[in-house]
Amino acid sequence: MEIDIKLKTLRVQLRQKSKEIIDDVLNRHVSRINDKNKSKEEICVFCANKHNLTKEHVLPKWTFENCNKKFFVTEVNGSEQTYNKTTIPVCANCNNNLLASVESYIISIFNKTDLSNSFFSNEQIHNIIRWLEIIEYKFQLLEIRRKFFKSKSSQYNEYLRDIPISIMRANINYSPNKAVTQIRISQRRITEKSKASKENSLVIFKTKNENFYFFHHLNDYIFLELPKFGIALFYFYSKKFENPKDAKDKAMKIMREIYIS
Ligand SMILES: [Zn+2]
Repeated sequence: MEIDIKLKTLRVQLRQKSKEIIDDVLNRHVSRINDKNKSKEEICVFCANKHNLTKEHVLPKWTFENCNKKFFVTEVNGSEQTYNKTTIPVCANCNNNLLASVESYIISIFNKTDLSNSFFSNEQIHNIIRWLEIIEYKFQLLEIRRKFFKSKSSQYNEYLRDIPISIMRANINYSPNKAVTQIRISQRRITEKSKASKENSLVIFKTKNENFYFFHHLNDYIFLELPKFGIALFYFYSKKFENPKDAKDKAMKIMREIYIS
């Protein structure tokens, strides 16, 4: 199938260029010395191409029906960022050919599947996982690119002015190395072909909610509610589960905590 070829190309490219992409992240966003030597030229985060760069949205526009009132709230200093600004550099081929094909495939299986009387095949579930793992990788890169700007609602320290907010996380001890390791982990996930051991980590709900709803925790989980398709997805990026029920229980617990707070 065409989708298999596109996903394979993404895996192969990323495997070949992973070091180059990480070196660019380190040089551009983590290293605080040699400012003069920093390259201004961005590279594609999926193939390291320097040409024909486009702005790729981290969450595809169709997921929330182009509503630009939605915003992401960072877990760091409560600053809000509108959806339109949440883009990363991806070359035209990766964006319009590879990633666009993955998204049209996802849209088509969501359209074709009515959870009231059918369910996704294992192969489709693996591809939904692959798609969510691409989103996680994009979030990892977005967060290392975003700086810790001043915000009314948060404490602010001048010294932290240009530190990427992905480093400002207590759960990684504010460690730049750990932030970069998480990017490597998210790259590696995409380059691993088999998703059989992760099947239970994806919880698929039927939903009647009318609003798009979304939350995401780096290297941990994503929740995506897509009213247009009557589908909600909860995926655990790093946890594995013995059975689907354990994953569902854990997802429900997190959702309750987040909805209540
Ligand atoms: Zn590319």
